Amino acid sequence: MEKIIITIDGWSSCGKSTLAKQLAKELHFVYIDSGAMYRAITLYFLRHHVDWEDVNAVDAALKDIKLEFATNHKNGQTEMWLNGENVEYVIRDLVIAEKVSEVAAVKDVRTFAVARQQEMGKHKGIVMDGRDIGTTVFPNAELKIFMTADEDVRVRRRFKELYEKNPNVTLEEVKANLAHRDYIDSHREVSPLRQAEDAIVLDNSHLTMKEQLEIAKKWARERM
Ligand code: C5P
Repeated sequence: MEKIIITIDGWSSCGKSTLAKQLAKELHFVYIDSGAMYRAITLYFLRHHVDWEDVNAVDAALKDIKLEFATNHKNGQTEMWLNGENVEYVIRDLVIAEKVSEVAAVKDVRTFAVARQQEMGKHKGIVMDGRDIGTTVFPNAELKIFMTADEDVRVRRRFKELYEKNPNVTLEEVKANLAHRDYIDSHREVSPLRQAEDAIVLDNSHLTMKEQLEIAKKWARERM
C-alpha cells in the first residue's frame, strides 16, 4: 500500500491526538504532535524569560532550541524532547496552555516549527495533528481531516485529563482556556486555524473512539 500524508486539524481538545496516534499505529505510520512543538517552545520562552513580542529576542532564542521526538520504549509513545530533556509531561500543564497560543501566533516561531514539520513528512507515511497542517504545512496531503466536537464535550474531556494530574484545576478554568486558545488560533494573522477546502469533517461528539478510528481508517485506505 502507498504511504500517504494524513493531516488532522481542528479545535482544541477534540481528540485529534487520540485519533492520530491510533491511526498511525494501525497503518504503521509515524505520528507527529505538532502542538507539542509549540508547547516546548513556549516552555523554553517562559523558562528563559524571552519576550515573544520582541522579534530579535525570539530569533536569538530559536537558535538555541533543538526539538526532537523520541519513542518511549516502555509505552511505545512518541515524546517531545527539548534540548536533550524529556518535556512530554511538563508541556501539558495549564501554565503552558495559557501562553502557547500567543507564542504560536508569532511569525518566526511558526516558520521555525513548520520547516521542521515539513522535513518530518518528506518520506510520507505520517499522521500529523495540529491547526494548520492541512492548510499550510502539507497543502497537498492525500487525506485531510478536520475534527470538531460540541464545546461541552471538549471541555469535559480536557478537564478529566488535567484533573487526573492536578485535582486543583476547575471546569471553569479549562473552559476559559479552550475558548481563549480557539479564539487566538482562529484569528491570528499567520496560518489561522481553518478548515482546508478539501478536508473532511469528523464530528466526534457522539462517536466512540473505536467508531471514529474505523471511519478514519476507511478514509485512509481509500487513498492509499
Ligand atoms: O494541539 P495542542 O492543544 O497541544 O496545541 C497547543 C497550541 O499550539 C494550540 O492551542 C495552538 O495555539 C498551537 N498550535 C498551532 N499550530 C499547530 C499546532 C498547535 O498553532 N499546528
